Amino acid sequence: MSIVTRRPTRQVTLGDDRVGYVKIGGDAPVAVQSMTSGYTYDIDKCVTEIQKLAAGGADVVRVAVPERKDTEALVEILKQVTVPIVADVHFHFQRALEAVEAGVHKIRLNPGNINDKAQVAKVIDACKERKLPIRIGVNEGSIIERRDKQKRLKELGGVFSDDKHGHMLAIMITKLEEYLDIFHERDFHDIVISAKSIDPNLVIKAYTEISKRFDYPLHLGVTHAGPKETGTIRSVVPLGHLLASGIGDTLRISYANDPIYEVEDGLELLYILGLRERKGAELIACPTCGRIQVDLFTLTQQVRKKLAEEIELPIKVAVMGCIVNGPGEAEGADVAIFAGDRRGIIYVQGKKVANVPEEEILEALLDECKKFQTRVRNGEVKLGEKVVEIAPPDPIGELGSGYDKIAAGQTQRITPLTVTRG
Ligand code: SF4
Repeated sequence: MSIVTRRPTRQVTLGDDRVGYVKIGGDAPVAVQSMTSGYTYDIDKCVTEIQKLAAGGADVVRVAVPERKDTEALVEILKQVTVPIVADVHFHFQRALEAVEAGVHKIRLNPGNINDKAQVAKVIDACKERKLPIRIGVNEGSIIERRDKQKRLKELGGVFSDDKHGHMLAIMITKLEEYLDIFHERDFHDIVISAKSIDPNLVIKAYTEISKRFDYPLHLGVTHAGPKETGTIRSVVPLGHLLASGIGDTLRISYANDPIYEVEDGLELLYILGLRERKGAELIACPTCGRIQVDLFTLTQQVRKKLAEEIELPIKVAVMGCIVNGPGEAEGADVAIFAGDRRGIIYVQGKKVANVPEEEILEALLDECKKFQTRVRNGEVKLGEKVVEIAPPDPIGELGSGYDKIAAGQTQRITPLTVTRG
């Protein structure tokens, strides 16, 4: 498992007997969250979206409740979903009270736009009565004062100074401390903290600083990370850094895309850091190069799709283009294929089981994965175990030499491939 030592924190619990309970912080695994992108008042669509995210592996789903009709819809939504739901509240503290009344499992408040002490106190008391946690979400985008012109001028001034990060950090921490005072005065500690920014460096600094000052669980995220194509790197660099440092108890990766990608990438990040036990197969594939003699891009995509559909256990599967690294990866994987001249050799736990032509690779590989899964389930083999040491294959004898054929004019090199996103 993981080499990460996680920072000790308090723990909060959200959920109910019907949807189950999710713990955040303490010894609980890092939870993956996402947020619906449609209108909450559109009950059927909202439930469908929540359930899709839950089926994809989201532990918690957040919904926006900007209007009264959204919190009204929550009553029905909460009857139909199977994961804990968080109401995302901005500007109107009444929405929080309505969401609590509707039976929501957690509230998110933004100190940047709900900061009237009496109003915050009402929300705290309502949550305390129902034993609901509250996330205090300090966001770079909404932390600067908007109403008080003098205050705004002062706060903005620092943002344009040379030390933008230090200044923003100071504002975020100060406002967080002020906000926490209201909670502490009411002896409320079921708190999760987030401090998101669009700037990955500020995200790292803010969470690191907050983790030194408070022992509340932390909800990691980069706000407004953009489309998945660029948002992935913007998100996983700071989140990966923090998680590898032991900081972070739940996360949401946010993309301007279908939120199911947020769940997929959040889980994958936790899997590769060893912070969550993988569900489903793990796919390793080579990037291909000028040695390739099969259509590996297409094969890899086909394998990825089939594994997602048909394999439930965390079987490690390698798809390698040639004998350069193929045998090494095959040795480390449960099931592997490495290709040669329009053929592929399949290995299961280091033992060669087939040598098939290119058009049969997908089916043969999947077949071996399914058989292997059955054997694991029957207790005949264990994941990650090696049966025999792999003997390096004779590339000419086993796979044939495409290069020789090319030189002899018997075959042509494979046409360069184009990948389309799907
Ligand atoms: S495994 Fe072979 S084809 Fe794939 S990148 Fe490595 S050298 Fe190239």
